[in-house]
Amino acid sequence: MELVNGRYNIQGIDLESLAEEFGTPVYVYDAAKIKSQFDRLSGAFPQVDLRIKYACKSLTNISILKLLKSYGSELDCVSVQEVKLGLKAGFSPEQILYTPNCVSFEEIQQAVELGVMINLDNISLLEQFGNKYHNTVPVCIRLNPHIMAGGNKKISTGHADSKFGISIYQIAHILKVVSTYNIDVVGLHMHTGSDILDAEVFLRGAEILFDAAKNFDALRFIDFGSGFKVAYKEGDITTDIEEVGAKLSSAFVQFCETYGKKLEMWFEPGKFLVSEAGVFLVRTNVVKTTPATVFAGVDSGLNHLIRPMMYDAYHEIVNISNTSGTKRVYTVVGYICETDTFGLDRKLSEVKEGDILAFKNAGAYGFSMASNYNSRLRPAEVLVYNGKAHLIRQRETFDDILRNQVEIDI
Ligand SMILES: *Cc1c(COP(=O)(O)O)cnc(C)c1O
Repeated sequence: MELVNGRYNIQGIDLESLAEEFGTPVYVYDAAKIKSQFDRLSGAFPQVDLRIKYACKSLTNISILKLLKSYGSELDCVSVQEVKLGLKAGFSPEQILYTPNCVSFEEIQQAVELGVMINLDNISLLEQFGNKYHNTVPVCIRLNPHIMAGGNKKISTGHADSKFGISIYQIAHILKVVSTYNIDVVGLHMHTGSDILDAEVFLRGAEILFDAAKNFDALRFIDFGSGFKVAYKEGDITTDIEEVGAKLSSAFVQFCETYGKKLEMWFEPGKFLVSEAGVFLVRTNVVKTTPATVFAGVDSGLNHLIRPMMYDAYHEIVNISNTSGTKRVYTVVGYICETDTFGLDRKLSEVKEGDILAFKNAGAYGFSMASNYNSRLRPAEVLVYNGKAHLIRQRETFDDILRNQVEIDI
């Protein structure tokens, strides 16, 4: 979103007018920003055969999936339901990678039947898979390189006691299973967690994967996962994509030479592609003064945006109804009957009841983690595409709250 003459807009459309038109709370996404992030990533790895698999759990709206497909993206899915959404959005099975964790073998069989690439991350599933499919279905193996990374313990997945991936120290066991069942391993994968700061982490992970890759002679790709960090507040350090691109590409090209074959390089970014493209608009219901604090209470809560509560995430908040007023200190809270503080002691232009506040960086893990807690309706979603605002998800109604509930005679 851009500030021009005291008004915020997306692609020239006034943001506050979007709140009027579609109501609040509402998630608004800027297709142009998603495109520029996609293009930036695509351009950062010039010498390699790059495939970008959008990690759709970050924002699963089907119109967003279609949008990313139109830009040339492929897809990473973590559940068979996400696979079905991806197919419905028009991705071909070959474009979809299915990376589940702790799912049943039945679910994996469903994904095999849908024709997508399977990424397995535990040895017992690999054994069941080999026993059933042998070399008839190609497979990718998710390794845990044991690199401690990620901005927060809850989103770090590469450490030694993480539930994700097969430990790199179990490589001998993996090889035994692979040769016993004659499994066709075509890819190796790692995803060490969200919010990785520096290129060195990627490189260390890459070296570990290259080392492991020497044991498999039929690889087609290596998947480096994601974890690209975006700025949540001014001055935040972000992943230097161009630096990662330059260093990793040259290491990869070198590896392919020793391996004797040109492999594809895969990434599966979520946050990097959609986080900054999203803004969450809420209306101020009450301004309430207590002895030490002025609260701005808004028409949303942790049911719609849980990141501040779950990860202590910082989302910049601006008062888009009043961009030039006197700055005052507010604690912005939600309407849920539970402590749901969106922002503590924030300097905002004076907030009046009815003012629209915007939470920035809300594209990733915003709507996709929303719930009906407190029997509240989930928000609408709007996509600004080619200079026009499109409703891409209707606001829920009371019927949605009742749907699937079964009333018995009492
Ligand atoms: C969540 C996830 C991603 C995306 O992570 P971001 O931090 O949103 O980029 C990528 N790969 C896998 C396997 C994931 O589970």
